[in-house]
Amino acid sequence: MTDSFTIRVDGRVIEARQGQTIMEATEQAGIYIPRLCDHPDLRAHGSCRICTVLANGRSVAACTQPVERDMEVKNRHPRVEAWRRQLIAMLFVEGNHFCPCCEKSGNCELQALGYLHGMTATQHPHLFPRRAVDGSHPDILLEHNRCVLCGRCVRASRDVDGKQVFQFAGRGLNRHITVNTEAQLDHPGLDLKDKAVSVCPVGAILKKHKHYGVPVGERKFDHDPIGSDVESHDQDKVT
Ligand code: SF4
Ligand code: SF4
Repeated sequence: MTDSFTIRVDGRVIEARQGQTIMEATEQAGIYIPRLCDHPDLRAHGSCRICTVLANGRSVAACTQPVERDMEVKNRHPRVEAWRRQLIAMLFVEGNHFCPCCEKSGNCELQALGYLHGMTATQHPHLFPRRAVDGSHPDILLEHNRCVLCGRCVRASRDVDGKQVFQFAGRGLNRHITVNTEAQLDHPGLDLKDKAVSVCPVGAILKKHKHYGVPVGERKFDHDPIGSDVESHDQDKVT
């Protein structure tokens, strides 16, 4: 029996292979599913739930859910897009995001997802948590106010860099990223070239002295919506 079969995504029939996730099969077919914690170079985690789709009527994370023969996936479905919009809105109000003065603006995946989903303001009250900024490393800034707890830095440091510099600490609203060494952030364990430094989707881990090299207005998502590298969705922005 062949390990290839078809699935349907929003009515479109695409090829899929046994062992692929929905995210992998759709990506290969040029269909973009929004995501935040997922990253092509990292093991899927399924924690942010932005990539939630309906698969055979059940809500699942596309980055971890394996495809099944004849699976029916709904990605651009009003219910699914409403869930995503809520999740994105909650991420904005849980942290302190002041995009106009953020070094990551225009290169930020959270901001770009907000734009893709037609968000110009949030309907929820902002929590304005008090969070620290760690500038102790000579080359790297850790800005907890913008962290969305996606865990990319944790997985990249552990699985790619082999260092385990970052880890999660605390619970609930106090959950945060911390430096997993007895020393501080400037511990020689963290290097500018580390994968953990380049995978942050927002402006929480930043290379110092680098972020205004490309002016605001000429950055990655300033002209092309997020996901354009996978799928052209100029004409059907999520609303
Ligand atoms: S991290 Fe992104 S969403 Fe947050 S302030 Fe910076 S640009 Fe805005
Ligand atoms: S610091 Fe960045 S990569 Fe790490 S958990 Fe926070 S948002 Fe994700």
